Amino acid sequence: MKVWKRNCAAVRRTRAWTMSRDFKFQLNSRSRGPLILDDLKRAIRDVKDFPKPGIVFKDVTPVLLDMKLFAETVKLMAAPYREAGITRVVSIESRGFLFGVPIALELGAGLVPIRKPGKLPAATQRVEYALEYGTDALEMHHDAVGPDDRVLIVDDVLATGGTANAAAQLIGGTGAALSGFSFLIELDFLKGRQRLQGRRVEALLHYA
Ligand code: AMP
Repeated sequence: MKVWKRNCAAVRRTRAWTMSRDFKFQLNSRSRGPLILDDLKRAIRDVKDFPKPGIVFKDVTPVLLDMKLFAETVKLMAAPYREAGITRVVSIESRGFLFGVPIALELGAGLVPIRKPGKLPAATQRVEYALEYGTDALEMHHDAVGPDDRVLIVDDVLATGGTANAAAQLIGGTGAALSGFSFLIELDFLKGRQRLQGRRVEALLHYA
């Protein structure tokens, strides 16, 4: 009898502990995403009229100062592509590198920098693209991506989509498969996503 009572008490204790542990886990896993996104939105700093009047610049550098937030951001940006067999993470100069490098490590992929003209030392492929006034260009080392690669393009901000679309064109010229894009921020009102139609586009934060 005593043994039975002791066992029952033990079962009750175990069940209570399990339930409270499960409950805490559910709370954590449910709230983790949105809470982190709130923290991220709070951390990103709006700098008005930078680099020119009328532009509200999304400064992501405060995110890099918070090790936990930075690590969670990298995990969330990589998450949609974890099962995609990515072999190359292509990131765009220069703030794209801040997230491209850790995402490449997270996904176990090689890292390919895309840079402004004249910055890469070896032979390059180049793409020119239109800006509001004039043109700009991006370059990538000619041997960094090949036809057997599966590519993820990473940048901090998707604005009008011109830069990301140019990066996609560079990848198109290699014969590699472009699995998609991962951005920290999408400025929805600039409709950059429309320029990337037919591609997978993931962004953690949206600004209407
Ligand atoms: P776009 O080609 O218009 O999509 O512009 C994207 C590129 O410009 C990204 O590499 C961003 O780093 C940068 N960018 C554009 N708009 C902003 C902004 N409001 N705040 C910070 N970076 C921006």
